[in-house]
Amino acid sequence: MEASLYLHIPFCVGSCDYCDFYSLPVRPGGPGLDAFVDILLADVRDSLARFAVDRVPTLYVGGGTPSVLGAVRAARLLAGLRALLPAWPEEVTLEANPESADGAFLRACREGGVSRISLGVQTFHEPSRRMVHRVGEGSLLPERLSLVSALFPGAFSADLISGLPGQNEQVLMRDIETLLAFNPAHVSLYALTADPKLPGSPPDDEADRLWLQGRDALEEAGYTQYEVSNFSRPGKRSRHNIRYWRMENWLGIGPAASGTVIDDRTGMGRRYTVKADAGAYNTPAFSKRDGGVTVEFLDRLTLIKETFLMGFRYTEGPDRELFKIRFGAELETFIPRTLERWRKRGFLDGEKTALNRDGLLLLNLFLLEVFEELE
Ligand code: SF4
Repeated sequence: MEASLYLHIPFCVGSCDYCDFYSLPVRPGGPGLDAFVDILLADVRDSLARFAVDRVPTLYVGGGTPSVLGAVRAARLLAGLRALLPAWPEEVTLEANPESADGAFLRACREGGVSRISLGVQTFHEPSRRMVHRVGEGSLLPERLSLVSALFPGAFSADLISGLPGQNEQVLMRDIETLLAFNPAHVSLYALTADPKLPGSPPDDEADRLWLQGRDALEEAGYTQYEVSNFSRPGKRSRHNIRYWRMENWLGIGPAASGTVIDDRTGMGRRYTVKADAGAYNTPAFSKRDGGVTVEFLDRLTLIKETFLMGFRYTEGPDRELFKIRFGAELETFIPRTLERWRKRGFLDGEKTALNRDGLLLLNLFLLEVFEELE
C-alpha cells in the first residue's frame, strides 16, 4: 500500500496563546528526547509493517516544534527513517522554529535528506508576538531566515498569521515585505482563529480585510494561492498537504497524530488517532491495544463528505479520478445542483470542479449546500 507519513514531535519551548496543537514545554535538547526518538522510530517500523506500506511518497515531520530535537537527534531520526522506509520519499518536509533552528540543526536536516523546511515566522512585530506569548525571540528571525534561505534555496516555506492582536495593515504589509526579502518558495498566511478571541485582536471585519490585503500582496509578489491559506511560487506547492486535501492515504505517528487509510475498492476506510499523551507514549508500556489508539470506521457517505470538505479547499478541487475509483461514479453526479448554482454565480474555476479565488472565500457556505444536497 502507498501512504504518506506524518511524524508528530509534541514539544515546544513554550506555549503560544492561539495554539491548538498538542505539545508539551521542553528545553531544546532537554532530557527525554532521545528516548522519544527511539520510540517514534519503533512506531514507524511497526506501523509500516501493520499497514503493509511499500511506498511513502511524502514525509512530513511536524509538531509541536521538531527543531527542539537539535542537530544530533534530528540526524539520528532521519538516519533511522532512511533505514526503515522502502525508499526515500520524493518530498521530505520538516517544521522548524527560529529559536531552535540553528546552523547545525539545519545542516543536519539537509544532510539527512530533508528537502523542504517550513519555518514558523508568524510575525516580526514584537508587540504582537508578546501579546500572544509567541515562543522565541523575534530579533532572531532575520538571522535564521538568512540561514534557511542559504541552506534550502528555493525550498523553504514560512508561516505568517493575520489578525493578530496589535496588528494593522501597516504591520502586516511590513511582515510580508520583510519575509519576502528572504525569497521563500512558499508562504502560508493563516487567519488567526482563537475562541474566545484574544485580547487586542482586531474586530472580525478588520481581521477579514487584513487577510485579503495579505493575499493580494502575496499574489502581487508572484505567489499563487492554491489552497485556502497557502501560496507558492510555480512548482513549489506542498505535495504532502495536497495528499491530505485529496484524501490520499497517510499514517500519523506520535502522540496526538492521526492517520487515514481508505480502501479504494470499497470506498470505506479507517481513521486512527494516537492518544495525546507524550508521557505514556514515551514508555515501553504504551500499548496500542490498551487505549493508546482509537480507531474510527469511515463509511462511504462520511468519506464522500470528507472528500468534498477537503478537496474544495484546493484550487484543483477533489481528485476526480480517485473519486471515481473509490465511489464508482463521477463526483459531479453527487452534487449537480450545487455545482450548477455556484457555476452560475461565477464561483467555480472555468470548467474545473473547483472553487475559484472568490469562491474560496465562501467555502463554508458552499460546503453547507454540498452537504444539504448529499443528505
Ligand atoms: S511553537 Fe507552534 S506548536 Fe508550539 S505552542 Fe507555539 S504555535 Fe503551538
